[in-house]
Amino acid sequence: MRLDIPGTGARVLVRDPGPRVAEIVHTLLDGGAVVDVQESGTHPVVRDLAARRLVTVVAAPDLTAYDVVLRDPALEAQEPPRPSTGGRVVLVGGGPGDRGLLTLAGMQALREADVVVCDRLAPLGVLDELDPRPEIIHVGKIPSGAFTPQERINEILVEQAQAGRNVVRFKGGDSFVFGRGGEEWNACVDAGVSVTVIPGVTSSIAAPALAGIPLTHRDVIQGFVVVSGHVAPDDPRSTVDWRAVAETRMTVVVLMGVKTLASIADALVAHGLDPETPAASVADAGLPSQRVARGPLRDIARIGDEADIRPPAVTVIGHSVAALRPQDTGTS
Ligand code: SAH
Repeated sequence: MRLDIPGTGARVLVRDPGPRVAEIVHTLLDGGAVVDVQESGTHPVVRDLAARRLVTVVAAPDLTAYDVVLRDPALEAQEPPRPSTGGRVVLVGGGPGDRGLLTLAGMQALREADVVVCDRLAPLGVLDELDPRPEIIHVGKIPSGAFTPQERINEILVEQAQAGRNVVRFKGGDSFVFGRGGEEWNACVDAGVSVTVIPGVTSSIAAPALAGIPLTHRDVIQGFVVVSGHVAPDDPRSTVDWRAVAETRMTVVVLMGVKTLASIADALVAHGLDPETPAASVADAGLPSQRVARGPLRDIARIGDEADIRPPAVTVIGHSVAALRPQDTGTS
């Protein structure tokens, strides 16, 4: 079932959010709509979308204020399962969240899928285009909400493929950049299931680019390093050599580092990186709620906080942050 996408700027109210609410909201946003969801604030997916500024939650909406009011179609129609055609797994990197940054090969794999196992940061709006519609299994980790452990995701992929189905594992960015694609690959190989990978546009490169920040710049920056900030530098679980990172003279890109950014900046400065080094944080890159905060390394965590930088966000540190001349867009 496809949504009729209203035009750019249309005000849309989604009532009774159900299992397809993330896909519906992304499809509407892709079409340029402004989306409200009627809900009491308890649905974890809706809470997540609202926290990322993609929707506004309204408890008692004025229905006359909307161009379109719709319900989650999954509540109305259960579509019959598709006949099986395959027995393989394709790991598809979906890019940072904008449907335009999904590859043609990734889209083709989705069209051929019997079942799509997806994360919340993938460009979920494209799922609405698939006809016939595959089964869709959401396993994404929602902050402070439900999630499926990685071991169970591996099992789902293997079970589905062994049942003869074409399985797409659909996730944000690239599957092999902090995407746990390697574990999924190995689980398939161990089970004797055929597995292939379709690379995705990783947010580590795309988020800076969407904010006008190159990672290399001729004669100034000759490389970049992408590092996870999911644990702080002083955490015993950290295996990153932060001294080496501070000394690379390359651009540093930090993923999963919103909470730990202040301690990462402190560690880099303690290891000799200039506290005035230009830095920028980019949240929800490629989505209508994209936000960018810029400042010197010593202040970037505070400036980001004030500019409402929340996960998912990427922070870039290095002289390439200030390498591009601002463009006169003629809008001011
Ligand atoms: N495999 C993904 C990364 C998964 S880890 C990739 O290649 O992009 C999740 C982290 O990715 C987030 O914490 C954030 O740091 C980053 N991220 C993913 N999507 C993003 C987006 N649209 N904007 C900014 N950062 C994003």
